[in-house]
Amino acid sequence: MTDALSWLDDIADARRAAGLHRVLRPRTAGSAFVDLASNDYLGLTRHPEVLDAAATALRRWGGGATGSRLVTGTTAEHELLESELAEFVGAASGLVFASGYAANLGAVTALAGRDALVVSDAGCHASLVDACRLSRSRVVVTPHADVDAIAAALATRTEPRALVLTDSVFSADGDLAPLREMHRVCREHGALLLVDEAHGIGVRGDGGRGLVHEVGLAGEPDVVVTATLSKSLAAQGGVVLADERVRVHLIDTARTFIFDTGLAPAAVGAARGALAVLRREPERAAAVLERARDLARITGAQHPESAVVSVVLGDPQVAYDASVACRERGLHVGCFRPPSVPEGTSRLRLTARANLTEVDMTLIEGVLTDVLATAHA
Ligand code: PMP
Repeated sequence: MTDALSWLDDIADARRAAGLHRVLRPRTAGSAFVDLASNDYLGLTRHPEVLDAAATALRRWGGGATGSRLVTGTTAEHELLESELAEFVGAASGLVFASGYAANLGAVTALAGRDALVVSDAGCHASLVDACRLSRSRVVVTPHADVDAIAAALATRTEPRALVLTDSVFSADGDLAPLREMHRVCREHGALLLVDEAHGIGVRGDGGRGLVHEVGLAGEPDVVVTATLSKSLAAQGGVVLADERVRVHLIDTARTFIFDTGLAPAAVGAARGALAVLRREPERAAAVLERARDLARITGAQHPESAVVSVVLGDPQVAYDASVACRERGLHVGCFRPPSVPEGTSRLRLTARANLTEVDMTLIEGVLTDVLATAHA
């Protein structure tokens, strides 16, 4: 009998030889590691108010949402989260999805289609890339942060509608999209601008209201914001924040809203708890950026504009070895290699947290200085 899975061995061997294999490492609760790898930017994931809000929702509504949002999966808690998030970022309405990935797939596929051109920044998150593939639209991928290329693509469109996609904060490099200029070009061409604020909410803007709010685009009817609840908001899930007509359209047509079970009540409660803490303690947002600047000073990385500090090392094996060396000394860092980043730009990806202490920073400085000296040698 032939082995139907032998091709997987060959591919796994090739990945290992190229330094590109991945290993799952379960983290331990209450781990002694200093975390520079997670997306818990505001340090709220174990905050007592977040845990209490999650537990209260769990006890009241149960372990799962029990069905699609359209059937039994909407609770009063979901609707409160939607209005609180919309109010926070200055949007007209909110619609919660089971993940940020699902929010992006749902929003793009529902707003695009065969009679729309989709223009997508080359640095967009994988969920937006997949959304483009599912959209049945003609898709033009423009070079990263290239507003002229977006304008050129929109100018030649033959489709009646157009949708422009971008992250606000790009996840690999932590840089910002030129949102104002992008919006100006979208306005000129009657296009919708969809902005993924996964890494912007909680970090950029007044009290963490996001980059769209910071640049004065909150509430604009031709701007659609998507976000995850799994980073600054210390929970799980996703949201689309937009004009009420967009919300109505998504409820009727977004496949990841209709055919996916609603977000679990505990996650809804956790996100509401985190948002309440952030509203009361807006200084947490500025603290993230301050710690990111400390990390950049230590590593020689570029001046950070978000929680993400990228230390590019080039070779995937060098980056992997550096991440292992950090872990052996109690520091958990991210390691991004192709296909997450382009060839030759493998890196340590550090994420700042608002609640890193001075003791943490001393350990971080000692470890990173030594490990990077070896990596660069
Ligand atoms: N967009 C961006 C920019 C992200 O970084 C992520 C998560 N890594 C997502 C969307 C997907 O969000 P979620 O993890 O909630 O599915």
